[in-house]
Amino acid sequence: MEILDGKKVSNDIKNEITIEVDKMKSRGEKVPHLAAIIVGSDGASLTYVGSKVKACERVGFESTLVKMPSTTSEVELLHKIEDLNEDDAIDGFIVQLPLPPQIDTQKILMAIDPDKDVDGFHPTNFGKMALDMSTFIPATPFGILELLERYEVDTKGKHTVVIGRSHIVGRPMSILMGRRGWPGNSTVTLTHSHTKNITQIISQADIVITALGTPNFLKAEMVKDDAVIIDVGITRVTDDTRERGYRIVGDVDFENVSKKASYITPVPGGVGPMTIAMLLKNTLLARERHKLNI
Ligand code: NAP
Repeated sequence: MEILDGKKVSNDIKNEITIEVDKMKSRGEKVPHLAAIIVGSDGASLTYVGSKVKACERVGFESTLVKMPSTTSEVELLHKIEDLNEDDAIDGFIVQLPLPPQIDTQKILMAIDPDKDVDGFHPTNFGKMALDMSTFIPATPFGILELLERYEVDTKGKHTVVIGRSHIVGRPMSILMGRRGWPGNSTVTLTHSHTKNITQIISQADIVITALGTPNFLKAEMVKDDAVIIDVGITRVTDDTRERGYRIVGDVDFENVSKKASYITPVPGGVGPMTIAMLLKNTLLARERHKLNI
């Protein structure tokens, strides 16, 4: 069994990006600038957005954090997005999800200029991704592809079972694993809460990608020997032995599943850190495209 070490790979990627940024600086060019909008004060969202800003500093990007109160109206947020769309200094930006209930998330994501949509959630970018065109791939699926590639995991002709069909993880992941090329060329089954015989389907999988958010959902007896296991789940569970009062767990019973797997991502330290690294990669791409005006 080999650990797909997202912490290490994400560090490698950040080092590679830092080198690119240093080259930009030495040529006297503008460095990439990422902005993030956060609405409200949800603890997990603040942590995620804080990590993204910190990651920008680490690689030498400029960053702007826009904090808006939880009472922000949809119109106010749309105005802020319009400002960022028009601000030539900003190469890419994200709106941290989830948004408060008075705001229609889809409407907000549609308002982001696709050329600055480094999360890759705009329908234009999602469509391009599905058509194998160059675009911003959503950071979490992009990070999973990168892990598979760097560990040279064979995906061709394999049966990949994706559990969870969210627009940000499961759905794009199922499209990407079925694409022509590598990583890809898999035969994909996308499962969700209405899937019948899910245990039987999982037992036939060469690659299992869990993105449902249910701690310990995937048990050792459900997977076949030498399966590749990618755990996207992040759930905070109360843990009084920790100073912060909780710990992060994935969707996989790591201790037992890892004994059967050929490759497996840990939680934390697997897919999570890759997500941030790929957001930086998308921002670098946005800067390059912005510079070339494409
Ligand atoms: P989500 O919107 O929370 O949806 C969960 C999906 O799982 C839904 O499609 C749901 O089916 C499916 N599901 C729930 N219970 C199921 C069951 N018993 N059997 C089969 N499918 C089931 O998904 P998400 O936003 O992708 O988040 C999933 C997890 O990934 C969460 O823990 C989240 O925190 C984590 N996450 C991690 C990262 C990272 O960077 N590592 C990034 C994003 C999300 P229905 O569609 O039928 O309801």
